[in-house]
Amino acid sequence: MVSTSVKNEILERYHEGRMAHAFLLETDDIDECYNDVIEIVKKLNCPYEFQEDCKNKECNLCKLINANNLPSLITISPIKQVIVLDDINYLLDKFSTIPVYSKFNIYIIKEAHKLNMESANALLKFLEEPTDNILGFFITNNKENVISTIRSRCQLFYCTYNREVSDKINEDILLNVKLYLNSIYHNKDDLLYNRTHMINLYDERKEWEEFFYTMFYYLKDCCFGSRDDKIDMIKKISKESLIQIILLIETIIKYIDANGNIDLILDKFVIEMRKYYE
Ligand SMILES: [Zn+2]
Repeated sequence: MVSTSVKNEILERYHEGRMAHAFLLETDDIDECYNDVIEIVKKLNCPYEFQEDCKNKECNLCKLINANNLPSLITISPIKQVIVLDDINYLLDKFSTIPVYSKFNIYIIKEAHKLNMESANALLKFLEEPTDNILGFFITNNKENVISTIRSRCQLFYCTYNREVSDKINEDILLNVKLYLNSIYHNKDDLLYNRTHMINLYDERKEWEEFFYTMFYYLKDCCFGSRDDKIDMIKKISKESLIQIILLIETIIKYIDANGNIDLILDKFVIEMRKYYE
């Protein structure tokens, strides 16, 4: 797990007295990365020198963290795709006093790319006038989508987990992905195919998101890993094109995430794809 080195580096910097006040963690697995941040929080604060799992039965701090009850640790997640100003204001208010139970007041922003301008601006107070007892962790799956005023004030780390691709891929969805990719590769009427076959495939935005994530992981694995189920299209295009397609899918997922119209997104996908297989 690559992230072990990130954990160690942050802790090492802490012990050397040169730790940053804010971190931007770009990851391929937000939940896994969040768990790692929690472990860093324990290691920074645990009075019993937290090891793999705090063994000290008296350690209230680790108990409070495990129970999600430590007042000096606040996690903020998006509500309906947005990190709202109310949550940021709550954080600013809670952290206006020094921590009582732990060394640091620590906030974690999950899916930091979902901070809107007003939430980000409110948070800048912490980033522009850092105090020694406040630490911030911003977790995102794409640093480019994090508002630049936040991004530029954080120390950047990459936490890649390379979870087994098979864990992430649902075989039924994968089958649909392969059919789609092959059909738009062979089909001149690929936009029509969107109307006749694709648009009714899923009802929910979440399902479309999963569909394109499956495509993303499958193609990534075809490109950088070894898969013996490569479809025609993949065998015939160059690796360079394949990488471009993977980047395209990332963009498509962003559009879906941002509430874009699915019809238009599918058409955009097909039109962009043509560049790579013509
Ligand atoms: Zn502990």
